[in-house]
Amino acid sequence: MNRTLLINEIFLSIQGESSRAGYPCVFVRLTGCSSRCTWCDTRYAMTNGTTTSLQNIIDTIAGFKTPLVEITGGEPLEQENVYPLMQQLCNRGYNVMLETGGFHPVSRVDHRVHKIIDLKPPSSGSSSNNHETNIRIALKAPPAEQALFEFKIVIAGKEDYEWATRLLQRTRINEHCPVVMGTVFSELSPAILASWILKDHLNVRMQLQLHKYIWPPDMRGV
Ligand code: SF4
Repeated sequence: MNRTLLINEIFLSIQGESSRAGYPCVFVRLTGCSSRCTWCDTRYAMTNGTTTSLQNIIDTIAGFKTPLVEITGGEPLEQENVYPLMQQLCNRGYNVMLETGGFHPVSRVDHRVHKIIDLKPPSSGSSSNNHETNIRIALKAPPAEQALFEFKIVIAGKEDYEWATRLLQRTRINEHCPVVMGTVFSELSPAILASWILKDHLNVRMQLQLHKYIWPPDMRGV
């Protein structure tokens, strides 16, 4: 069967986020997302895309000669054929990352994939869609696999930060899996978020979106 995905773009860049920040990485951006976060920075990926066979995607990735690959969007888990794509990339020895908005359970994702799962705070406008199922899936995973779950919280202000600290206190997910926390670019100073984290001795990893400092913040394909 000739399986396809609707692809917005495939490009080589520097991984800007997560515990792999700084490494060269091939990004595969899938088209479409049923959510509408207020500060979404990839709205251009909501509709525009090219139907592409899995083989063609794999061949394009191979051309970049880079072992780290991130599947992103849009919301990649809204296209069924993303699952065999991730599996085939793992089978070929790639170090595969998935960036998901967190509204869909990651239970069908190949266990070898490094899963970056958003936890959406109130300012996103999508907080009610939050899928705490993924926290429960991560907590039940064998310890060796928990390292491949990473939760991401993007903070726009104090209300978001307090929401996040309550979530971490309630679930204790940051005692089991890495939790990265960053700011909505140009909405909240990283220095302010850093001061809150330090004051509260919060066990999270603060991150900046590296690509927005290397290149113009609204530049595509980086
Ligand atoms: S889940 Fe991600 S892609 Fe979808 S609207 Fe929110 S930020 Fe944008």
